Amino acid sequence: MRGREVLSLFKEKGALLKGHFKLSSGLHTSAYFQSALVLQYPSIAARLGNFLAEFFRDSLAQVVISPAIGGIIIGQEVAKDLGARSIFAEREKGNLVLRRGFKINPEERVLVIEDVITTGNSVRELIKIIEENEAKLIGVGCLVDRSGGKINFIWNPSKSLLSKEVKPQSLVCVNVEIYPPRECPLCQEKVPLIKPGSRGIK
Ligand SMILES: [Zn+2]
Repeated sequence: MRGREVLSLFKEKGALLKGHFKLSSGLHTSAYFQSALVLQYPSIAARLGNFLAEFFRDSLAQVVISPAIGGIIIGQEVAKDLGARSIFAEREKGNLVLRRGFKINPEERVLVIEDVITTGNSVRELIKIIEENEAKLIGVGCLVDRSGGKINFIWNPSKSLLSKEVKPQSLVCVNVEIYPPRECPLCQEKVPLIKPGSRGIK
């Protein structure tokens, strides 16, 4: 399955929404990837997980970590494919934290899996959790990178001065404009604003 096929899949399942959306980051945009509508089909979720896992086949990942809620299903599928543990971080007072007894052990090889990367803020928070636990970040993967490949992550291992740049591996890489609310052309056109995401949104 190639990127174009994955994109068609999103369109086919009504998961690529067009309009005026408020992202979890607070930014506005004209297109929204509602991956839950694609991942509601377990056989599709398994195929996408398998496809995404291909990037990390030789990574010897021991743990896959995802941000709740959006990243949980695809994280689980990738972990299953790689024979790794699957855990997730969830928001507590606005910050992503490990709960439910989830742990990352020092030196463990950790892969970050997200459904859709826009600003990359959730992934940065997960990388911080990996660093705090003195584990190793071995990669970042997502279904959709909507920054058009502009985003890079930095891993700062605590016991070393050398930081490492990590580029996300994605199945779909598209550039969708995002706007601060004050500069949003859709707001100026008075297009009704929709909040479809996951962070505190029903
Ligand atoms: Zn707007």
